[in-house]
Amino acid sequence: METIALVGNPNSGKTTLFNALTGANQKTGNYAGVTVSRVSGVLRTPHGNQYELLDLPGCYSLSPNSPDERITRDVLLGNQEGAECPEVVVCVVDASNLERHLYFVFQVIDLGLPVVLALNKVDLAEKQGIRINIELLSEELGVPVVPCQANKGKGVIDIKHAIRHPFPHQSSRTWSADKAVEKAIIKLIEQLKSDGVSAPEAQAIHLLADSAYRTESQPGVDGGMQKQAIDIADTLIRSGLAPEESISKARTRKVQEICQVAARRQDAGTLTLSDRIDQFLLHPFFGWVIFVVLMLMVFWTIFRVAEYPMGWVDSGVGALSDWVSGMMSEGDVRSLVVDGIIAGVGSVVIFLPQILMLLFFIGLMETTGYMSRAAFLMDNIMSKVGLSGKAFLPLLSSYACAIPGIMATRTMDSAKQRLLTIMIAPWMSCTARLPVYALLIGMLLAGQGALVQALVLAGLYLLGTVTAFIAAWLLAPRVKGSEEVAHFMMELPAYAVPDLKYIVRHLLERAWSFLYKAGTVILGICILLWALQTYPKPKEGTPAAEDASLALEQSYMGQIGHAIEPVVKPLGYDWRTGTALVAAFAAREVFNSSLAISYSVDEEEFEEDDDFLAQLRAQMAAATWPDGRPVYTPLTTLSLLVFFVYALQCLPTTAVVRRETGSWKWALGQLGAMSVFAWLAAFLVFQIGSLLL
Ligand code: GDP
Repeated sequence: METIALVGNPNSGKTTLFNALTGANQKTGNYAGVTVSRVSGVLRTPHGNQYELLDLPGCYSLSPNSPDERITRDVLLGNQEGAECPEVVVCVVDASNLERHLYFVFQVIDLGLPVVLALNKVDLAEKQGIRINIELLSEELGVPVVPCQANKGKGVIDIKHAIRHPFPHQSSRTWSADKAVEKAIIKLIEQLKSDGVSAPEAQAIHLLADSAYRTESQPGVDGGMQKQAIDIADTLIRSGLAPEESISKARTRKVQEICQVAARRQDAGTLTLSDRIDQFLLHPFFGWVIFVVLMLMVFWTIFRVAEYPMGWVDSGVGALSDWVSGMMSEGDVRSLVVDGIIAGVGSVVIFLPQILMLLFFIGLMETTGYMSRAAFLMDNIMSKVGLSGKAFLPLLSSYACAIPGIMATRTMDSAKQRLLTIMIAPWMSCTARLPVYALLIGMLLAGQGALVQALVLAGLYLLGTVTAFIAAWLLAPRVKGSEEVAHFMMELPAYAVPDLKYIVRHLLERAWSFLYKAGTVILGICILLWALQTYPKPKEGTPAAEDASLALEQSYMGQIGHAIEPVVKPLGYDWRTGTALVAAFAAREVFNSSLAISYSVDEEEFEEDDDFLAQLRAQMAAATWPDGRPVYTPLTTLSLLVFFVYALQCLPTTAVVRRETGSWKWALGQLGAMSVFAWLAAFLVFQIGSLLL
């Protein structure tokens, strides 16, 4: 099947159009050798042809700043291993931002492939009073232009019509650079042709237009070709003419020229509604007040409102476990299913409502256009610690879970920024820490009002975040590729009514991938933990056979706990807590269930209506050291809380960091550093506290 590539600037509506063009026929894979996912679907034209529509990563230009953008360039230039050069390129642009998006269109047209321009968001352009002369635009660019509104499915069929086969014409560039540069382009094309390079025109222009493409060795790019280009470019540079500058100026000039004739703003000079809203939302004082209030509301909702659906999931899991218990006879298999699988997987699935709520708010902020404003505001603060405003979204997502947060860094253009963001993301307290915080804060502040508890909770979030920023500040000068913080070049799209269909679609995807993870990775971990806590079984007739707590002590998990007790004792923890901590390295939320087993909360006392957490707290409060001192003093609890703020107890995160940074060095370094830091912080809290109290 022949391939059609879909390209466009981020936020041009590319994904929406992709969905409209392919319907449900989509599949996701990976590009060879890189971690960028390859999304494609089947497109059927009204002429009866079938194509593979390849959704290439969104990018601002074909001079890539991120691994995603590089893929787009390499596929279009035919450099990407295992990917055929597409037959036709559908290029999506935001009609309400034509001038900004056209530069990229030029770069695509320069490649000489057949191009169809999908002029999307015409509704927004209309609202802003921008009149675009489609025919004139098409004439100027030399490619078919199809107006459309992807979110309403308008114009989609016209795009399919425009993808004809055989395609009537190749597209060719419309600008011309300085004479000397033009000569150089022609000379290079000739040389590449005689060397048998494929797509010599496209390569020649790109080599001269992008000095990094010319000079940096990269997979799939022929070194001999680069050498030719460097020679030619150097001659130009010596004569005082940088080819990339000349070409970039020529493109920009032409873009402006075309916009002037083909796109007119009726009310040029007056403020659009978005501009007027921005006067408030980006105001140096009120902008911040609104931002802070919005964030507080988001978090309040996530923690307060999510309690209800979480309660439902909890009772559902409880009912399931009761039902299964009733159906099966007592024994190892029942214990595996009920205590291992249902309890373990259930303790993770319970966070689904919170994660979905956070993602819902993120979706709202994205589709209304507020996210870019928030990043714009945050850019100021974040740049002080060496981070760019673009790190805001990944870091915000990390409050739900570091994994999507780390994956969201793919859209960041600077490799250094991306690495910094990945390194600190796990210190944004994720939702998996919540149940642990809830358990421990309840112990620490028993009898205090909800407000005090909420403030302490907020304090823990703040502690992680502030430390993360300090860490970024310390790390920034030490990470290689020390370019300056990329100046803020994010587009501020016009405000829009939130797109619920789009949000729901995202939520469903994420819910599915979360449940998938729970059903695979977490399931595996739960079974392993169960086995470690269950075996070896105490012999019949020994005291341990009667006493669950003693049996646990003798199990493999208990043995591990005892082995590590010397490490955790200076932090104030006994072997049980140590065991639970080890278990929590697989997934933090396992801490609670592991403690529940350790303290052998007697099943008989567990009437259905009883509050599980209250039971567990009572058991923990009663726990003592062999000499009778209580284990869980306020200081121990505080030290545990601090440990949880800092420790990277999440193997999936480490796996994702390894994948996204492509290096075990960073992944394991982060795991090691965060664990040691957590230990030291908890140690200081406990030891200094012990001295003072
Ligand atoms: P991508 O980043 O290019 O993949 O863009 P998306 O497909 O994620 O779309 C970005 C936003 O633009 C979403 O909120 C879409 O619902 C919205 N959008 C897409 N097409 C249109 C359109 O034609 N008109 C309007 N008003 N909004 C659109």
